[in-house]
Amino acid sequence: MPTFPALVGTLAQTLSGHSAHVVDIAEPAPGFLDIEFRASPPAGGWRPGHEIQIMVTSTQARRYTAYRATRHDRLCILVALDADGPGTAWIRRLGRGEDVTLVAAKHRPLRLPPAPRLILGDGSALGTIDAYARGVPSSTVALEAAPSSVAALRERWPQYQFLPAHPEPGSAIQAWLEEAVADGRLDGIHGALLLGHAGSLQRQRRMLVGHGLLDRRAVTTKPYWATGRAGL
Ligand SMILES: Cc1cc2nc3c(=O)[nH]c(=O)nc-3n(C[C@H](O)[C@H](O)[C@H](O)COP(=O)(O)OP(=O)(O)OC[C@H]3O[C@@H](n4cnc5c(N)ncnc54)[C@H](O)[C@@H]3O)c2cc1C
Repeated sequence: MPTFPALVGTLAQTLSGHSAHVVDIAEPAPGFLDIEFRASPPAGGWRPGHEIQIMVTSTQARRYTAYRATRHDRLCILVALDADGPGTAWIRRLGRGEDVTLVAAKHRPLRLPPAPRLILGDGSALGTIDAYARGVPSSTVALEAAPSSVAALRERWPQYQFLPAHPEPGSAIQAWLEEAVADGRLDGIHGALLLGHAGSLQRQRRMLVGHGLLDRRAVTTKPYWATGRAGL
């Protein structure tokens, strides 16, 4: 529900809102913020991969994902600052020590495709990817991100392949994918998790299924944003 009447927003915050305190804000790479909250947990507690919504105005919410949930009352999100909407503006204004409300329900993990798996995404999906791929060495992970952030991201997450993004979303990953399919690097994969820019995921899935590398059911997609569209 990216946009809704103000009354619905108030109701969502009342029924599923969790008071949160901003413990820390760090910049792991240019254009990325790592925000740690101390927050009252939903049923079942906070989990890596937990989806949250933030009411960024009285009528608009934006979604983010916990990449770490270190304790029962701690969660961290990784935000890519590439968008220019109210969500990113809200995140940029956020300060250490502020009290906010996070809207969340009980954690429902993503349906993961069979392993070994290929995981593709962009900066918006880095937190989710880290939540699901950390500690799974058989995954092949490739992400595209703004060229200015790539060196710092590679240093922080050396286990993932970071590609400098081209102006057209998804095209750096697409070029990498075409090369990887052609040289047989992906022959052993049994599934794929595709996250991030909506149009790019569809192209990636067409490529993986079209080349007979994977059955359509072995590909999980989850769009996080779409060109020209506010919220998802
Ligand atoms: C389930 C879910 C989980 C998510 N988790 C995360 C997360 O953990 N970290 C994170 O950074 N993002 C995450 N996102 C993506 C994030 O919610 C969107 O990027 C969001 O739309 C940004 O809000 P905004 O108000 O700044 O921009 P919007 O008002 O939504 O959009 C404004 C403009 O920016 C463009 N835009 C939106 N997002 C991006 C982007 N990422 N890159 C380039 N252009 C963009 C839109 O096409 C539009 O033209 C998640 C999305 C979903 C659906």
